Amino acid sequence: MSKKYRSWVTGFARIGEQRELKKVLESYWRGEASFDDVQEVSDSLKCRHWNYQRRASIDAVSINDFSLYDQTLDMIETLGLVPKRFRDIEDKTARYFAMARGDETHTAMEMTKWFNTNYHYIVPELCAGMSYKIDISKIRAEYEAAKSEGVDPKINIIGPLTFLANARRTDGYNPDALTLFGEILPAYVSLFEELDTLGDSVTIQVEEPILVTQRAAELSLLVKDAYNRLCGAAKKSDIYVVTYFDHAKEAAAQLVQTPIKGIGLDFVHGSANMEILDIFARSGKTLVAGVIDGRNIWISDIESKLSLLNEIANVVPKESIVVSTSCSLLHVPYTLKYEKRLDEKIKSWLAFAVEKLDELSLLCRLFFDGADSLDAQEALRYAHNRDAVADRKSSTLIHDPEVKERMQGIDELKKRREPYENRIAVQHERFKYPPLCTTTIGSFPQTPEVRAVRRDFKNGSIGEAEYVEKMKGFIRECVEFQERIGLEVLVHGEFERNDMVEYFGEQLQGIAFSENGWVQSYGSRCVKPPIIYGDVSRPEPMTLFWSEYAQSLTERPMKGMLTGPVTILNWSFVRDDQPRSETCYQIALAIRDEVDDLQKAGIGMIQVDEAAFKEGYPLRDSQRPVYEKFALESFWICTNVAKPDTQIHTHMCYSDFNDIIDTIEAMDADVISIETARSGNTLLKVFKEHSYKKEVGPGVYDIHSPRIPSIEEIEKQIRLLLEVLPARQLWINPDCGLKTRRWEEVKPSLRNMVEAVKKVRASL
Ligand code: GLN
Ligand code: ZN
Repeated sequence: MSKKYRSWVTGFARIGEQRELKKVLESYWRGEASFDDVQEVSDSLKCRHWNYQRRASIDAVSINDFSLYDQTLDMIETLGLVPKRFRDIEDKTARYFAMARGDETHTAMEMTKWFNTNYHYIVPELCAGMSYKIDISKIRAEYEAAKSEGVDPKINIIGPLTFLANARRTDGYNPDALTLFGEILPAYVSLFEELDTLGDSVTIQVEEPILVTQRAAELSLLVKDAYNRLCGAAKKSDIYVVTYFDHAKEAAAQLVQTPIKGIGLDFVHGSANMEILDIFARSGKTLVAGVIDGRNIWISDIESKLSLLNEIANVVPKESIVVSTSCSLLHVPYTLKYEKRLDEKIKSWLAFAVEKLDELSLLCRLFFDGADSLDAQEALRYAHNRDAVADRKSSTLIHDPEVKERMQGIDELKKRREPYENRIAVQHERFKYPPLCTTTIGSFPQTPEVRAVRRDFKNGSIGEAEYVEKMKGFIRECVEFQERIGLEVLVHGEFERNDMVEYFGEQLQGIAFSENGWVQSYGSRCVKPPIIYGDVSRPEPMTLFWSEYAQSLTERPMKGMLTGPVTILNWSFVRDDQPRSETCYQIALAIRDEVDDLQKAGIGMIQVDEAAFKEGYPLRDSQRPVYEKFALESFWICTNVAKPDTQIHTHMCYSDFNDIIDTIEAMDADVISIETARSGNTLLKVFKEHSYKKEVGPGVYDIHSPRIPSIEEIEKQIRLLLEVLPARQLWINPDCGLKTRRWEEVKPSLRNMVEAVKKVRASL
């Protein structure tokens, strides 16, 4: 008999609310903890998370959402698709972590972003003729553990289409692993046969987020074949195909024609899903309706969620609806419980994962049983929710009349500067920098001493005067070093910054920071995104003091260093009570003021980093224009205050510009530095093909490796670049900031870079 659900959580985080998993893993890797310790912590985390969900009366609770490193890597293990290059490692645990992180003799598998999130998964390496071998021991163990905790779990599996589309073929010419569909399906069939034996009626949640992306149309053709076969393999089980992050209209129409039990759709980030509700009514499939936002941290407006559900229920029979999170709660922090310093008001507007469970259960009660059925505690929670929602709409903490007034005139600022040809001429006249001008991306090594000074200042053990003196010391050394080796455009080194977004976020009005709001980024690594809760403004200059000081030390141009509005937006939790574009424009205004202050103080070159510009792109091309429009406009707003002779630089880490080169051009930065070191000159060719006219600094060596590049090597790299663009259009720099490197690496590397440029110039 299949189970009937009312509430559903797509998945839960695993790193632990005190980052317990991170801590034990890292001490295991250092050799200080045993693998038994790791397992002990893992087991207790799983239990804790199941119990959180059980206490909130969630009835569809996951297993196999836990992972020691990454779920896709776990799928590789489950399917027995370990790449050949790791098969010499016999110990299973050692092999697992070698795939994830590499060891002395194996380079790690590639890692990349999970759709449009900041979570990174391990990219499967597949080839034709691969052999698979199903191993469900991890799943079985979790299934049994959950049962013994009194939870009847659903099993989370990454679906075959998503697994393949996210994989890479390591044989042959075409890296698209979807060409291996015919080979992967039998592996999944065997897997589902085995899962089917776990119980009388097992619930399997198959995650297929790939079905919401630009590839949806093409993949929908495979959906029926795949799910007819998987249902055939697991006849006793209930299979639910769950999608998230956008709408899945194309695939859902196919899925209802297969024997699956239900489909999960995201109604928070894919409102277009509302257009296909009738297919549920007609097919009798269950709709797992994702209405509680799994990607953001604001309290749900329970009232409006309830109307949404009722609207759905106008078309889909209520008995066929399950109320769910929009996606796994992996992407939000755990709980507000540890937030002691956060403003009480702001805190009352937030819901992290554990708080979302309560929202889900309250919503469920209201939807299925009605307001009259609430017990005293639920009624209280409902009242609190309504108060907090109302309060958030009108609070003066959020709504700043000055910002709102300034936003009135924003349209006039959404424009490019005067023509590039005019600007660049006066810039060359002002700075007289040579072709192949040498510079760096901004940060210099964040040594233990640098960190200690920042930490001491933060916890009050040194005063401001001492802090400033010490920071000035670091800057002085850094500037002296750059002059000594002959760099031509200098930077101050960014020693005062812990993180390129946090540094600005902390100084901007309207942005808050949690103490414990960690979200897993990859493996044991977590990030703590800023929380943009209100209208953003800049009470006072943020970087001016350090840049002016640095400029006072040298005759050479000192680049001012700012983080761009799009990057601040993309790396934060963004308020959901106004369009993202509005928030981005507000940030742009704040950075604009900083640009202006810098230029007035004589800082003639200003770099506005947009490291996260590319990753903010939507999952479907149809939505690209909207993103590109506001992202571009935001960049213009913050840079078009620059006088013609102020040179605007930007930097992007991401290395694939092929499909966004027109937008890069339109950003209108005078100089862009990009990460190309690992690709020779292939990447740069895009710029030539699009007859890109502005100046480009393609990174000439890879800063992600501790290796010191030789003069010859860099010289060769520069000559490769010269095959593509003329010297007058090229700058020479490393491919990203140097903060993760040590001085012992940075010094010789940069010296070699400068020497290489001298040699090339001599031969021009
Ligand atoms: N200016 C920043 C730095 O050098 C840029 C960092 C980045 O691209 N992620 O650290
Ligand atoms: Zn970078």
